[in-house]
Amino acid sequence: MLIEVYDVGGTLIRGAVGYLREKVTFLEKVQEPTEKDFCAQIRRLSPNLRKAHKPDLVSIIVPGPVKEGVLLKAPPLGITSPININYELSSFDKKVYVGNDLNAAVQAELSEGIGKYVENFYLLTISTGIGAGIVLNGIPVSGTSGEFGHNVIERYWGLHIECGCGNSGCWGAMCSGKGIEMLARKYLHKRFSPKEVFGLGEIGNRDAKDLISKVRDYNAQGIGMMVNAFEVDKIAVMGSIGLKQFDKIIPSKEEISRYTVNKIPDIIPTSLGDDIGLIGAYYYGMLHTSDVLREELAKK
Ligand SMILES: [Zn+2]
Repeated sequence: MLIEVYDVGGTLIRGAVGYLREKVTFLEKVQEPTEKDFCAQIRRLSPNLRKAHKPDLVSIIVPGPVKEGVLLKAPPLGITSPININYELSSFDKKVYVGNDLNAAVQAELSEGIGKYVENFYLLTISTGIGAGIVLNGIPVSGTSGEFGHNVIERYWGLHIECGCGNSGCWGAMCSGKGIEMLARKYLHKRFSPKEVFGLGEIGNRDAKDLISKVRDYNAQGIGMMVNAFEVDKIAVMGSIGLKQFDKIIPSKEEISRYTVNKIPDIIPTSLGDDIGLIGAYYYGMLHTSDVLREELAKK
């Protein structure tokens, strides 16, 4: 089954065409900054992926809750009202399926990542937001569980940052990419991107180093809360900040031990790297292959 997949992220949109044989293999790939009208962007990118390939279906994953092809909201994309993606892409000749990015990434990790070795794990994403997928006894926990990013970790007035959920001091508000930008305004008194903050830390800027150690300690508390909730075998980390700055922002077991009574598992960057979303989108598409085959048969 050839599937055209898209991973719509807060910063980048990735697209690919691939098939599954033991593991997902991509034949074509595209990547560029996400535009405000990402549906128009997908319509524009699609012909490049289809030049030499005819996909059987299209699978798109997005950073927000989805109901029957409608993205209800997506704070990382600045989207606050629903977008009917199925309607926007109704000109496609193949069926389009839309799913949530974290659920899809959990499926990828389960099929091709640490899920091959352990039955209980977290997939922690640190990107434009913070959240975690939970797998217990080899089965993903569904629904709205894993909103660890909205645990309040900073309660002091003046130190906390407002969160999109309406609260203040949430882990995601403090330590996501956006959070690090806001912390830079607070402590470095200037607008800096997360990349610039980490770059300043590397060349020894003291304020930047202090900021990064604050983030690391908040992360120790956040991960400690996760370990208190479920004693898992491993934690895999994904997301642009989580992967690129892993060594700087992921605390040691000793640092986390201040915040949990449970045994702290090994924490590793996902072995699937930046492709985790595309691989997840493929597995999400796979769930619908029987619908597509049924329709093809009905046409004959
Ligand atoms: Zn929040």
